[in-house]
Amino acid sequence: MPATPAWPPRSAPRLFVPGPIAAGSEVVIEGGQAHYLGKVMRIAVGDAVILCDDLTGEWAALVTSAGKRDVMLEPRERLRAREDVPDFELCLSLLKKPNTDLVLEKATELGVARIRPVIARRCVADKLNPERARTILTEAAEQCARTALPQLAEVTKLDALLRDWPQDRVLFFADEQGGEPAAQAFAAHQGRAALLVGPEGGFDDAERAAVRGLSQARPISLGPRILRGETAAIAGVALWMAVAGDWRQDHASSAL
Ligand code: SAH
Repeated sequence: MPATPAWPPRSAPRLFVPGPIAAGSEVVIEGGQAHYLGKVMRIAVGDAVILCDDLTGEWAALVTSAGKRDVMLEPRERLRAREDVPDFELCLSLLKKPNTDLVLEKATELGVARIRPVIARRCVADKLNPERARTILTEAAEQCARTALPQLAEVTKLDALLRDWPQDRVLFFADEQGGEPAAQAFAAHQGRAALLVGPEGGFDDAERAAVRGLSQARPISLGPRILRGETAAIAGVALWMAVAGDWRQDHASSAL
């Protein structure tokens, strides 16, 4: 007897939709997402689509109608519960737009729970379009099969970030002027944590002193070279995931 092909196929398109998703309900997809399903993925009635809602997890849904403007889906089976991501946030000083966008995408793929955009004195940019940023986070989550979207905090000035910093979260401060080797620091302080990365021009002396003055801050070094802000952010998050996050052996079972 021929083996039953896996359903849904791995190639099925993935989409985040507003929740809560429930078996047998009707999900209507419109706008850009309908265009993506119809014109880009060329889905037809009877095809499978994977849906996530950042709430109930991941579902296999069946296309019940595929029109020019909207696509109807019927969630059939819950495939996975919403995953727990390690409680690690990235406090990213706003970089030039393409570089901020790159970090939003890569930090999502790497597994951060939250992104906190920060304004420092030498930031060239002073705002972030939250809708655009959320689209980048969502598309990155769809692409890498995350079931939990990273949260996006409001843009915060560095002094406010430090003033309101919670007692129970370590703030690893990526300091190009030196600190404890990052892997060593990450291993030594497991638990709720964040990584702070400066803008293109770095933090000024007063800002560096203010960050270092915070009792929860741990200055870290990402090596002897001066990295661009986007490189420091991506390398720092990857290293934390490997040393203290869900790339470790004891977390491997939750991987795809
Ligand atoms: N002040 C620097 C550039 C800053 S690089 C200059 O203009 O010469 C941008 C940010 O990346 C820094 O603020 C820091 O947070 C991070 N960074 C870059 N290289 C780093 C390193 N080797 N170790 C730790 N953090 C680094």
